[in-house]
Amino acid sequence: MEHNDGSLVARAAVLRQATGTVTVEDVALDNPGPFEVVIRVMASGLCHSDLHAIDGLVTKRLPLIVGHEAAGVIETVGDRVADLRPGDHVVTCVSQFCGQCAQCGVGNTWLCLNKPRLRNREPGLPARAVGSDGVEIDQFSGLGALSSLMVVHESGVVRIPDEIPFDRAALLGCSVLTGTGSVFRGAGVQAGTSVVVIGCGGVGLNVIQAARMVGAADIIAVDVHDSKLELARHFGATATVNSAETDAVEYIQRNFGGADYAFDAVGATATTVLAFRAVRAGRTAYVIGIPADNAVIPIPGPELLRDAKGLQGLLMGSSQFKRDIPKLASMYLRGQLDLDTLISERIGLDEVNEGFERMRKGVVARSVVVF
Ligand SMILES: [Zn+2]
Ligand SMILES: [Zn+2]
Repeated sequence: MEHNDGSLVARAAVLRQATGTVTVEDVALDNPGPFEVVIRVMASGLCHSDLHAIDGLVTKRLPLIVGHEAAGVIETVGDRVADLRPGDHVVTCVSQFCGQCAQCGVGNTWLCLNKPRLRNREPGLPARAVGSDGVEIDQFSGLGALSSLMVVHESGVVRIPDEIPFDRAALLGCSVLTGTGSVFRGAGVQAGTSVVVIGCGGVGLNVIQAARMVGAADIIAVDVHDSKLELARHFGATATVNSAETDAVEYIQRNFGGADYAFDAVGATATTVLAFRAVRAGRTAYVIGIPADNAVIPIPGPELLRDAKGLQGLLMGSSQFKRDIPKLASMYLRGQLDLDTLISERIGLDEVNEGFERMRKGVVARSVVVF
């Protein structure tokens, strides 16, 4: 795949204008720098944050290779890459980290201050991809995973066992890590408690199965699609509420006296307020879905103070992905974690726009592009 100029050619889903569709085109990728690796992508999930960029809810530098939830095989590595070898099966994550900044120093690697540099986003750093028109193309969160090849920094890549199938492994990189990490790490959900989960897609279903694993007594799933609430029951929800038909806050306060934990896996203003109002006094609601750029959340003031409630964002489940993703892969291989049911459909890269359209309608849990 080497070009005369030494660059690699990939088939990639490129967002040129935030108008609702991407184009599948050939892009030239740079050969890897000292700390970069080339990954042959085998599977890549469609995520809501890609859709946010496509729909213009979140502004990104364009043109942009979308996608950030991939599994594949290491093809080549830069001179200084220590822990990865050609042939390794890997998963990518948006939580690139330097290991040396103030956040990394206290263990919060998902909040690394040097992500822009590791994503080649700082002024003066050339983009890793170029279109056939010669114009530089950015990579979503430094990854650009809806592409047959990726050139990425080693700090956004983790090795996984060879036994786990690529389509299921891909999901570990974003939706599974975010959902399970929010329960295991971010909120530290305790056994015997009540948990509300709003939005039963790829992230929310993983909150539900993680809450079941830690022994939550009541797991209340909220969505506007009955098909997703059925899936939620499969993953461990003990009660379901269709919030298009029922006042979810009233239902949760009446039947459970408010919840110990609430997770907004959607990130819309209304769902965040719902999460905040669903927890009991003294408890915290967590936002784990991505809000739009211009989102401002109207929180009822009296409930904030009188009921001493908290509202907190959790990024990527507060997970250290290099530690947590291999553990999640092992849990899948031992039958402790359900990844099979998360995948609603497997599609080709050429069907990526149809996949995003189905996500927009809210009818699928996860669509995975298989290369
Ligand atoms: Zn994602
Ligand atoms: Zn750092």
